[in-house]
Amino acid sequence: MATAFDNPAAVRAWSDATRSAGRTIALVPTMGALHRGHLELIRAARQLADAVVVSIFVNPLQFGERGDFDHYPRPLDDDLRACDAEGVDVVFVPTAASMYPDGFATTVRVSGLTEAMEGAARPGHFDGVTTVVTKLLAATRPHAALFGEKDYQQLAVVRRLTADLDLGVDIVEHPTVRESDGLALSSRNRRLDDAQRRAARCVPKALAAGRDVATSDRSSVADVIEAATRAIDDEPLADLDYVAVFDAGNLRPIDRFEIDHRRAGRVRIAVAARFSDVRLIDNADLFAH
Ligand code: AMP
Repeated sequence: MATAFDNPAAVRAWSDATRSAGRTIALVPTMGALHRGHLELIRAARQLADAVVVSIFVNPLQFGERGDFDHYPRPLDDDLRACDAEGVDVVFVPTAASMYPDGFATTVRVSGLTEAMEGAARPGHFDGVTTVVTKLLAATRPHAALFGEKDYQQLAVVRRLTADLDLGVDIVEHPTVRESDGLALSSRNRRLDDAQRRAARCVPKALAAGRDVATSDRSSVADVIEAATRAIDDEPLADLDYVAVFDAGNLRPIDRFEIDHRRAGRVRIAVAARFSDVRLIDNADLFAH
């Protein structure tokens, strides 16, 4: 059985004792409603460290829309069972009051990387993410923390944060885990009705359409964006939020392809789309084979 802690001080005491005993710790931060994507991160964490901590916290600071926060799924009993089945050592499920007690007044902000895409679409979102990630790392003091490529901008922002603040934690990325039809697993998928779930295939299709166009030597960034946009616009139940083609390192939008862009790892494409009040995001390497 995993040990559960509901406040930062308690998990910190466990972490200090674990470190003193010479054991290494890997953290998988989540908002719960665990799916196969989370479980893959947990399994990868197992390979990296002696003890695995999974945090489950629906962080109010990173939600702009009240409805999204209120409707975020919270199947805690299922999540605890899944953690037990995976051999997780510690489940950290802090209360909001223990994370943000009266008088809480600190914001951790990363500039630059947070401006485009999710930062532009969800004002304040990344301040909430970087503040809570800093607190989760301070409470659990892991040697490594695992993040999914599915939230590529978040991953880049967290890397910047931990480097800039000398937090001494290894940030490990994990590839996006997908359903058989290509849809990236997400806790929000369970809020889609059947028709919306079928429609949501247009998100990975848009990425694939962009990548197909990109493989032609004469294609422009505008051609790629147009192809991805069309894949979303062709789906009546989807509303496009954005398509972005961006530098994989600094996350800046790219206006035109330079010669050295056309290889794996340099340029990515991201899509955000809404299905009624459920918003999905996904991204991919534009030139990976
Ligand atoms: P969340 O609970 O959505 O905040 O996600 C917790 C962690 O799991 C984040 O690092 C996500 O990037 C990662 N994650 C979520 N969905 C997937 C997926 N389909 N594949 C890989 N990682 C994922």
